[in-house]
Amino acid sequence: MLKDIVFDEFQNTVSELLICNRSILDIMGKVQETNARLQQSIIKSVTRCGCIKIDASRPAIPSDATMADLKLLLDSHVKGMLCDNCQETIENSVGKLILYTAAVCNLLDMNMYDIILKEQKQLKILGYYNLA
Ligand SMILES: [Zn+2]
Repeated sequence: MLKDIVFDEFQNTVSELLICNRSILDIMGKVQETNARLQQSIIKSVTRCGCIKIDASRPAIPSDATMADLKLLLDSHVKGMLCDNCQETIENSVGKLILYTAAVCNLLDMNMYDIILKEQKQLKILGYYNLA
């Protein structure tokens, strides 16, 4: 399966090329750092560029709303579209986060593709999933 090969190749490439950060302590720090950069990139899209806005308020949810209704009643609070520059910056941050997540998996002898399959199976079992 192609996706299987892509994930395994990526994980192997990370293992071969990530020489300077071999310690789990270094990698844990990099995951936190890249996560913070991702958050900052999104914030800058709102506060510096302005291509997107965050418009949030408490949603009005009827007491008889079902989980299926919530999908229609709740929104992302994101208004607008990312400009090309902000999209590239955020994609770079997501990429680095994936890179260091792969490094964590390598150091703990885990396979990212297996983890994704397991998570997908869990989502299908749980149906409408509450991330809270
Ligand atoms: Zn922008």
